[in-house]
Amino acid sequence: MIPEAREATQLAEMTWEEARDLERGRTIAVLPVGALEAHGPHLPLATDGVIAEAMARAGAALLVSRGVPAVVLPVLPYTVATFAAEFPGTISASAEAVTALVTDVARSLGRHGFRALAIANAHLDPGHLASLHAASDPATGGGGIPIVFPDLTRRPWGNRLTDEFKSGACHAGRFEGSIVLAERPELVRDDVRRSLTAVTVSLSSAIAEGKRTFEEAGGLRAYFGDPAAASAREGRRTIVTLGEILADAVLEALGGSREEAGT
Ligand SMILES: [Zn+2]
Repeated sequence: MIPEAREATQLAEMTWEEARDLERGRTIAVLPVGALEAHGPHLPLATDGVIAEAMARAGAALLVSRGVPAVVLPVLPYTVATFAAEFPGTISASAEAVTALVTDVARSLGRHGFRALAIANAHLDPGHLASLHAASDPATGGGGIPIVFPDLTRRPWGNRLTDEFKSGACHAGRFEGSIVLAERPELVRDDVRRSLTAVTVSLSSAIAEGKRTFEEAGGLRAYFGDPAAASAREGRRTIVTLGEILADAVLEALGGSREEAGT
């Protein structure tokens, strides 16, 4: 059964005494990490944060339904966004700052005895992914408790996502647009979205070829993929999958089988 994702507990809405009374030694804190970054002429700059929060809530609710307590942290809205840096409104932070901040969050959680930090992320800028890998690597980051980071660009996680995502044309197109339509439809400029021509450039291939900006990769309006094909229905399905990825990554990283946590 799919749990109601909005039931996930938000740490920021608890009092400190309620936080004290959590079973912290068993509790996973889920950190959504987004970006403030150009997402075509039809989606808000905060698109990746909207997606990360949906993934975090769905993943936390699924963990709870599997017997593992979980709380959701406020979204981290600033990170490395060099590919979109020239588009007005994009805010880019240094990788070092992001690694340090995520590590500090984990360190605070560790001080209070939380079991692990899990990162919900759908922003795929290579510098950003590197900053999260650095934070989650016990050798370079860590912060004292395990940091679980399922990187959607790596196996096995990305294989579970939609065809457009796997094609690499996955920035502000059908994949991301569908999730925003499901989560925050009022933020989508829908008449613009429906008018956009598909940009079938694989961003992952462009990155592999050494392209360093959306413009270099052929995304002159900061989108790739097929925005007009997006639907809230697909978005709701994708959010379920993202939540499953997060929950499965946590359970595997903590050494329990998916069955261990029960029904
Ligand atoms: Zn995005």
